[in-house]
Amino acid sequence: MFKKDFPYFQNSKTVYLDNGATTQKPKSVIDSQVEYYETYCANTHRSNFGHANKATQEFEKTRVLLKEFINASKNEEIIFTKGVTESLNFIASSFAKDFKTVIISSLEHHSNITPWHMQGRSLGNGLEVVSCNDNLDFDLEHFEELLKANPNAFVSITHVSNAFGKIHDIKTIAKLAHEYGAIIMIDGAQSLAHFKVDVQDLDVDFFAISGHKTFAPTGVGAIYVKEKYLKDVKAYQTGGATIQEVDYNHSTLLDSPYKFEAGTQNIAGVIGFGKALEYLNYVKYENIESIEKNVFKFLDEELAKLPGIVFYNDTKDCIGSRSFNFEGIVHDDIGILIDKMNVAVRVGHHCAQPIMKKLGIRGTIRVSVAFYNDYVDVDKLIEALKKALSMLK
Ligand code: PLP
Repeated sequence: MFKKDFPYFQNSKTVYLDNGATTQKPKSVIDSQVEYYETYCANTHRSNFGHANKATQEFEKTRVLLKEFINASKNEEIIFTKGVTESLNFIASSFAKDFKTVIISSLEHHSNITPWHMQGRSLGNGLEVVSCNDNLDFDLEHFEELLKANPNAFVSITHVSNAFGKIHDIKTIAKLAHEYGAIIMIDGAQSLAHFKVDVQDLDVDFFAISGHKTFAPTGVGAIYVKEKYLKDVKAYQTGGATIQEVDYNHSTLLDSPYKFEAGTQNIAGVIGFGKALEYLNYVKYENIESIEKNVFKFLDEELAKLPGIVFYNDTKDCIGSRSFNFEGIVHDDIGILIDKMNVAVRVGHHCAQPIMKKLGIRGTIRVSVAFYNDYVDVDKLIEALKKALSMLK
């Protein structure tokens, strides 16, 4: 129903089921890139001529849109970055590095693991991992034990697992974290494309956002920082546009968000991000959720009929991604074969090697849907999988 809004689907016969990696972009987003570069290309927050002012206004418009979109309380709480990876690294290196213990979940993307290793942390040595059960559910009891044993920890947890689609109950997790004096950051890479996020309702302290996984251009994202932490977060890079006053001995930085946005930003990307948010406001989350619920259910039912399929979790509390293997078959072979049939999925470890190791596998076949996917896409996927399986038997 919404494919018509995405030029990719007019230009390509690919059945695109790799939305967990990146989403397609609506025409309004693509047009905004051309419009910026063709008609008012100028730097922001510096010069004071017509196009420079327009570029600044359009850029700042996205900040207001995003603030409203996630229900932040102030524009200053929205800081633009390159994406979730940069957002997590920024907070890890400038704010959380002094916390004695960092607690993560078992389902983290490497972007929420390696920044902690860069600080010299390892399991039991400044880094703790909350267990999950055989259905990959977050173990709240173990989390509480870790919070009790490690007072005033820094908790950094993914909202939705990119590899298995598991949704973490962030409201409950954040409440518990705060009860034990912890501060909590959420990796929101896989949530905004699927459901409404309200940072005040979730009561999280930091929330990392990826533009390109939310129908916006690549190379743009943001970090929400709760107002009360803005003064404690240190700028981890400085320079152009972050400065109030400089001499050879001192630099005085501006206030948030500008002191955190050093150098020329991805101006077109941020403007495009605003268009993506406007587009989502037009589509509405209630439609997104009902389409995805039906397509995801159909996908799961049809996959379950395939011989030798192995799942690692049920679909309760899951969204977006469904991961599986076939007994005796190497997942890469399936990926190669169905690519020849114009079906795009991701095979591999999905940047989540620790959970793959825990499951004793190298990786999975991951189908990840967005609201523009439909039953026909699922039919074509199943047909391609059947053909691939018959070739590999
Ligand atoms: N976290 C999760 C859960 C992801 O799925 C991804 C991307 O796959 C990332 C972090 C990295 O996001 P970005 O590409 O915006 O840096």
